[in-house]
Amino acid sequence: KSEVDHMIAAGAFNRRSCGRLYEEFFGLDAEARAIRDASGMIERTLGRVLEAIGEAGQDVKSFGSVLADFSGKVDGDVASGQGLRSALETILAETRKMEVRSGELERRFSDTTDEIVELRRNLDEMRLAATTDALTGIANRKHFDIQLKEYTDDCARNGEPLSLLMMDVDFFKKFNDEYGHQIGDMVLRLVARTIAECVRGRDFVARYGGEEFVVLLPRTGLEGAFAVAENIRNTVASKRLARKSTGESLGMVTLSFGVAQFKPGETLEDFVTRADTGLYKAKKRGRNRVESAEPTATEVRRVGVRS
Ligand code: GH3
Ligand code: MG
Ligand code: MG
Repeated sequence: KSEVDHMIAAGAFNRRSCGRLYEEFFGLDAEARAIRDASGMIERTLGRVLEAIGEAGQDVKSFGSVLADFSGKVDGDVASGQGLRSALETILAETRKMEVRSGELERRFSDTTDEIVELRRNLDEMRLAATTDALTGIANRKHFDIQLKEYTDDCARNGEPLSLLMMDVDFFKKFNDEYGHQIGDMVLRLVARTIAECVRGRDFVARYGGEEFVVLLPRTGLEGAFAVAENIRNTVASKRLARKSTGESLGMVTLSFGVAQFKPGETLEDFVTRADTGLYKAKKRGRNRVESAEPTATEVRRVGVRS
């Protein structure tokens, strides 16, 4: 809020500054910063460990020189019982000191090790939470954006096909209105799980938003993508939903699909938009079906015959 107030006061509250604000507080940069902070903490902790090792080295060195001194004395004055006794006392005292220091060092090591383990766990949790959708447990939109960039880069480099499915639950508003949001949430979990079960390997499933899901299919052309989509569509549509507590039937849900194959050179936005256009078409043509933005071979033939 204070950033926005500042911008308004400076007359600099516009689309661009909003974009920058988003990146700063919610975007990938914010996440990167959190990870960098955690890495910084690990680095500082490691620094302390190294410092302790350095000190321990010094202690060992001075203990060594006391020992060397002692062995010189023993060599030079074996006969003198008095000399030997006082030298032994010195060495005993030094050994005790060394013992205490070793104990201290051990404690410090074990403390810092615990700290590092804890930091690592936090970091792993943070990374997972930042890329997971809380409701369904599958990847979230942010993770999808990262994966989309990676897979399209791969595609541009190795020339292998890459396809995208975009799907949306049909008449979900009605379902929510009829059975309540909580049951709606359960259905979204079921749909997410079903989609994830229908794909494998490097295929990547994410919740794109509300009741929309996406799947990235590397090494898959449009035809293969249609087949995967049809399989998901059939699997979801064949589920009969029932209220767990009473067994009351809740009917079924269906999904509509848009499919697109990546054209190297097009922007990621255009790629997603083409899948979205396919989805829009599927909705318009009656739902519970799979379409792509481009006309299918049959459509082309049909148009061809007409003209
Ligand atoms: P269409 O077939 O055209 O997609 O119709 P629709 O009703 O699914 O589409 P619309 O966009 O009108 O409504 C989407 C609904 O999805 C509205 C909203 O209540 C519901 N929804 C979105 N996110 C969630 C969620 O996290 N939980 C639940 N229970 N419902 C959600
Ligand atoms: Mg929708
Ligand atoms: Mg919908």
